[in-house]
Amino acid sequence: MKWFNNNAQWRESSAYFQWKSKVSTQWDGKCAVTGRVDQVDYHHAYSAKAYPHLRFHPLNGIILSTDIHQRFHADMGGTHIPCTAHDWNKWVKKHYPNRRQARMVNLILRYHLKRFFISMIISAWGMMYFLHQVLG
Ligand SMILES: [Zn+2]
Repeated sequence: MKWFNNNAQWRESSAYFQWKSKVSTQWDGKCAVTGRVDQVDYHHAYSAKAYPHLRFHPLNGIILSTDIHQRFHADMGGTHIPCTAHDWNKWVKKHYPNRRQARMVNLILRYHLKRFFISMIISAWGMMYFLHQVLG
């Protein structure tokens, strides 16, 4: 995965265009809240600036009507304030409680849960191996 130090640069990259195309396919080319296809933006659940490793992750993107996008960032304190999937899910639940399909995957929580379960499986396996050695 390649990312950029200069913040203006990554929006010009082919990785960004590929990301937008994947996000568009995922959300059927329309705003997840209003269903609109015109005047839409591509929003990163985890801010592209604060979470550069998730910048081009397809599940980190959503299509939003420009007005909804702007309202969300205004409520978060401005576009310069980093936000997360958790912030978005809380916001959309509050303002559009019946738009469940607009909620996003919490990629960081999912990553930690996956690591936790893998470590549990390894521990359980280690314990069984140990007991097998001791009890013969
Ligand atoms: Zn945004």
